[in-house]
Amino acid sequence: MICQKCGEEMEIKDVLVARTTDPKDDDVWEKMWVCDCGEKLEIINSEEEMEE
Ligand SMILES: [Zn+2]
Repeated sequence: MICQKCGEEMEIKDVLVARTTDPKDDDVWEKMWVCDCGEKLEIINSEEEMEE
């Protein structure tokens, strides 16, 4: 995946999408495309391991 902002290669990383205050609940992490410039994209394709 190429970043549409800066043109660099993006990586799939776990992103914290919801932090809970209840210790019984886990924080919610979601795999997203992340770029060094801060751009994030949802993974629309269900195949997370895409061919390069
Ligand atoms: Zn970028």
